[in-house]
Amino acid sequence: MIRHLKSPALFAWIDRMPALGTPVSVRTFEVSNPSTGELLAELPDMGVEETRSAIDKAYDAQPGWAALTARERSDILWRWHQLIVDHADDLAAILTAEMGKPLTEAKSEVTHAAAYPQWYAEEANRIYGETISAPSTDRRMLVIKQPIGVVGTITPWNFPASMVARKISPALAAGCTIVLKPAEQTPLVAGAMFALAHQAGFPEGVVNRIYASEGDAVGRELCSNAKVRKISFTGSTEVGRLLMRQCSDQIKKVSLELGGNAPFIVFDDADIDAAVDGAIQAKFRNGGQTCVSANRLYVQSGVHDEFVGKFAEKVCQLSVGDGFDPCIFIGPLIDKRALAKIESHIADAIAKGGIVRCGGDRVGMKGTLFQPTVLTEVSRDMTVAQEETFGPLAPIIRFEDADQVVREANDTIYGLAAYFYASNLKRVWRVAEALEYGMVGINTGRMSSEAAPFGGIKQSGIGREGSRHGLEDYLEMKYLCMGGI
Ligand code: NAD
Repeated sequence: MIRHLKSPALFAWIDRMPALGTPVSVRTFEVSNPSTGELLAELPDMGVEETRSAIDKAYDAQPGWAALTARERSDILWRWHQLIVDHADDLAAILTAEMGKPLTEAKSEVTHAAAYPQWYAEEANRIYGETISAPSTDRRMLVIKQPIGVVGTITPWNFPASMVARKISPALAAGCTIVLKPAEQTPLVAGAMFALAHQAGFPEGVVNRIYASEGDAVGRELCSNAKVRKISFTGSTEVGRLLMRQCSDQIKKVSLELGGNAPFIVFDDADIDAAVDGAIQAKFRNGGQTCVSANRLYVQSGVHDEFVGKFAEKVCQLSVGDGFDPCIFIGPLIDKRALAKIESHIADAIAKGGIVRCGGDRVGMKGTLFQPTVLTEVSRDMTVAQEETFGPLAPIIRFEDADQVVREANDTIYGLAAYFYASNLKRVWRVAEALEYGMVGINTGRMSSEAAPFGGIKQSGIGREGSRHGLEDYLEMKYLCMGGI
């Protein structure tokens, strides 16, 4: 069913699907390969009852999980990390089959995913409170940190392995238990990651998963069920807004990793060859289907033509096709809707004076392959300059004034990632400080790391994932005051 799988056992969990014990829906949904349309699996389409049952399990298991020592929780996270590393080839093959990204990219995503349980296995041992100097001698005051409780999490399809690991590792390290619903397009690698988590020895009820053909019913139950104390979501800003509203009745905590509209600015003092390579990474990784994808490329007039020439030449050479083909750099778009979106962005740009420098068309008519595309003469009134395209389309906007470009770059509801290339030290500092984004890449097109706080400001989200800050998001602070000493 999935090509190149060394250990088909990793897929065997599908046959044992009615695992949650309580009513499993008789309805099913299909998971297919977006490159070929080939049917990969059929999963039960779970709903409110199964979600409630998973929440109950997580709720019952949470006190016992939190009562373990940090070292005991850490040891299980380490084992999970090791199992992910040991099965990296198979996880990557499942990921490529259901999502389409090139196998080498899938492998690097799995390696990145494995880094989260490793990092949080270490971080679990470093949850510290504090003591406070009391204003009177007969009192002692301190702060302790405790796990929030049950966490409901929902993940997207674009990084289906690393999103699962990035979300649940800090929660588990903190002593929380989780119920996770992966995206309907990519539940298989998530399922395989969960199978490995069970093998690693997480006690019954600590990690729970729900498979569903859509997110609405499951999301509503996670937000409205009082046993769930926090929602952690990665996906579109639109759904993030909805979940936040649904959580408001219970003032439930939320962590939201949402959409972006990243500017990528090339100043005239930049190393142009490095900027071209960085732009290819920041734009075309995962076929442009990343929340931190360079969505608007601003290039200063003095280096505009040189940059466009070198960039377009390299982009034209990026090969598109089935992710299992070792020569491929860009896989398919996730579905027909994504294909229609990129086509409409290009049509709108052309109608308003944009010029296609390379690409611009589908590859074949069967799947969802699209040529990597470079657009120039792009202006701010074009949809492509306003909205996240989420595909292999690089719109280039020429600019003159360095202050003006920062104002334009900030003129968006989003604030996730920004990039710029420059060499003047004063400019580097000024621009880095002026960009209203949660993350800024300076002379690099790639910055995700388990060691760094990933997340956005404005309508790109709330909270951070990765680093020690990611752990804090799953801990409550409790102030203790002892009198009569
Ligand atoms: P999406 O919001 O449609 O779907 C994401 C998840 O939400 C899926 O699991 C889906 O089933 C679920 N969902 C959909 N409707 C829901 C509802 N009404 N209630 C509860 N859950 C619901 O997003 P998408 O199009 O699949 O993913 C792409 C988006 O995700 C882009 O905007 C991208 O920028 C963003 N993203 C952000 C980050 C980040 O870290 N900031 C990372 C990856 C993707």
